[in-house]
Amino acid sequence: LRSFVVGGAGFIGSHLADRLVERGPVTIYDNLSVGRRAFVASHLASGRAALVEADVLDLERLTEAMAGHDLVVHLAANPEARWGLARTRLDLDQGTIATYNVLEAMRRTAVGRLIFSSSGTVYGDTARRCAEGDLGALPISLYGASKLAGEALISAYVECFGLTAWIYRFGNVVGPRGTHGAALDFLKKLRDRRTELEVLGDGRQSKPYLDVRDCAEGILFGFDQARERLNIYNLAPEDTTSVSRIADLCVAASPYPDAVIRYQGGERGWPGDVPRSRMDPGKLAALGFRVRHTSDEAVRMAVEALASEVFG
Ligand code: NAD
Repeated sequence: LRSFVVGGAGFIGSHLADRLVERGPVTIYDNLSVGRRAFVASHLASGRAALVEADVLDLERLTEAMAGHDLVVHLAANPEARWGLARTRLDLDQGTIATYNVLEAMRRTAVGRLIFSSSGTVYGDTARRCAEGDLGALPISLYGASKLAGEALISAYVECFGLTAWIYRFGNVVGPRGTHGAALDFLKKLRDRRTELEVLGDGRQSKPYLDVRDCAEGILFGFDQARERLNIYNLAPEDTTSVSRIADLCVAASPYPDAVIRYQGGERGWPGDVPRSRMDPGKLAALGFRVRHTSDEAVRMAVEALASEVFG
């Protein structure tokens, strides 16, 4: 299997690359805006992976680099939903147009298989436990909107140009080499401020948290087992954990266990944040895959790993 991983030097991409190199050569296409060469350095050194440092918005370059592969994994995106508030074109460009470019390069090069990283944010603001068919509420962030647009484009390319696609709607993914997200934010704030930790919202936001190795495993499990032309799966544990729990764990894991946590208040961390989300992993479970770690376990392991990355 010759894999082409757009965004492969990032957090999830580098963990997936760890697995894909076992199946054949991997090309990582990444502009290193967030991702790091160090995350994939061992595979580059062993010759099992190659890095093309380029932008997904450069369609000619993308097409040229993609030719000759069997599978495209598209992970490049604006990683932080709340950045769309200050830069309203960000998700349109880095989400929707980027996904169009990936699909268009696949059409031109006749690479037939695509794995896409979508998100539970496509379900919008609903406290219901969402399964794959539950798209009744529309997304409430520009990030979620661009993920749903990406899914729609993929569905159209599957129908019109004969692609096969695996779309995964992830919960919050956490673990070593994290590049963003609440736990990393909290640890960096603690490194800088030491005595206090400011947390957006009231801390009661609760979401499913998925260990990044469970994420990579689930992606490949579905890829191996699911046989439709368009395969859509939630990939998240069925339980949730809270932001206040993450804040407590970060303080305890830092060199500043007496730091005071200050909650800014309000139900949402920022406009567009879904305060409570729950996802139903039953469809992937019916194929035989179970997420190994609960949300709480995933968060505990992630905080431990990230604390040693931040504090040394
Ligand atoms: P990440 O930022 O670590 O990885 C994205 C990678 O894409 C980075 O290496 C970055 O350098 C690269 N990239 C970004 N823009 C690019 C561009 N224009 N051209 C080329 N490369 C570019 O983030 P991640 O957490 O690994 O997320 C991977 C994917 O999973 C994203 O699509 C994200 O939206 C999705 N996702 C992540 C989570 C999560 O909690 N981490 C949850 C749901 C969905």
